[in-house]
Amino acid sequence: MPENKNSLIADKRFQQELAEIKQTGLFKQERIITTPQSVRISTTQTNDVINFCANNYLGLANHPEIIEAAIKALNSHGFGLASVRFICGTQDLHKELEQSIAHYLGTENAILYSSCFDANSGLFETLLDDRDAILSDALNHASVIDGIRLCKARRFRYNHSDMDDLEHKLKQAMNCRTRLIATDGVFSMDGDIAKLDQIVILAKQYNALVMVDDSHATGVIGKRGRGSAEVHQVMDKIDIFTSTLGKAIGGGAGGFTAASHNVVELLRQKSRPYLFSNSLAPALVAAAIKAFELLSNSNNLREQLAKNTLYFRQALQKAGFDIKPGEHPIVPVMTYDAAMAQTMASRLLEEGIYVIGFSFPVVPKNQARIRVQLSATHTQKQLEFAIKAFTLIGHELKLIST
Ligand SMILES: *Cc1c(COP(=O)(O)O)cnc(C)c1O
Repeated sequence: MPENKNSLIADKRFQQELAEIKQTGLFKQERIITTPQSVRISTTQTNDVINFCANNYLGLANHPEIIEAAIKALNSHGFGLASVRFICGTQDLHKELEQSIAHYLGTENAILYSSCFDANSGLFETLLDDRDAILSDALNHASVIDGIRLCKARRFRYNHSDMDDLEHKLKQAMNCRTRLIATDGVFSMDGDIAKLDQIVILAKQYNALVMVDDSHATGVIGKRGRGSAEVHQVMDKIDIFTSTLGKAIGGGAGGFTAASHNVVELLRQKSRPYLFSNSLAPALVAAAIKAFELLSNSNNLREQLAKNTLYFRQALQKAGFDIKPGEHPIVPVMTYDAAMAQTMASRLLEEGIYVIGFSFPVVPKNQARIRVQLSATHTQKQLEFAIKAFTLIGHELKLIST
């Protein structure tokens, strides 16, 4: 570390801030996993636990065909591209994946990013300026919020899924040139689905565009896995989708925006994370192509996921737990008390169940919870094992009484 006075003073300040984070109980300690991502994992502390906190909804993170596709691409297309897309970073694979995504979601076109965080960062300022307005759900993902911050459009934040408030703000934005409603398709802490059926009606009434970040929904929900808009049967009424390849779609890395030709072309010309950041590695691209192929050819994984979700939600409810209702494989098991959530997660780990307790500031105060996430690859036996462990510890901590 440089020894000049200024850097020493600054470093002291950073140290103090870290101490404060620890004092308030908000310090995040990372567990170290020593196996591939899967429903059964080992960590440096615990061997062979069942994982209930990955976004690996379809089990594709460690799927043999995905791994094979990645290895094949390493051999045929190399490891890295060392270029942004418009210089010499576009391979046939990138074009193929963009086509697969557009085809899967039924949009005219799609554009890849290194992450969905980047897709959201580069979206709003490309399309909108100070003559326009963005209407954003209060619980939108950090990357949507940051993307909006980078844009000069007027910002209207409506209360979470509150359609009256959205309408109120749309009225306020009527003198703007373009109005864009921006929402997560599935909200990650509660697993609730955006009210897209009502949002598209308001969008039509007030002449607004609709953008949906479907990171927790692509491949996960909807009759054919097309996400939150398919659940509400409004696929053709969404102007812009963003989503990630880092969750259900193999969980490697990457994100995308799917929209009309003109939106996508404009993003290619102007979107800063696209223009100024390296092209997605070929192995990741080939793996994602394979993932969309698997999802397009069969609904089995998604149907198994829905079955596991229904079974698990019903069993926990029957055991007496307070869970947030819904149909998404995110199952929030409410403890309300933050310390209780931590204790419960630790005890569950001792029983072989890997889950995480979430408390303020990730969720509102006194809304602490264990966020369970199901996967298509959890077996019936593993689900039963988990429910037994939850029930045991629920009694032990007096969370349930039956
Ligand atoms: C996970 C997530 C992201 C970030 O995706 P990355 O590809 O990991 O950057 C963005 N938006 C939402 C709603 C998410 O859940």
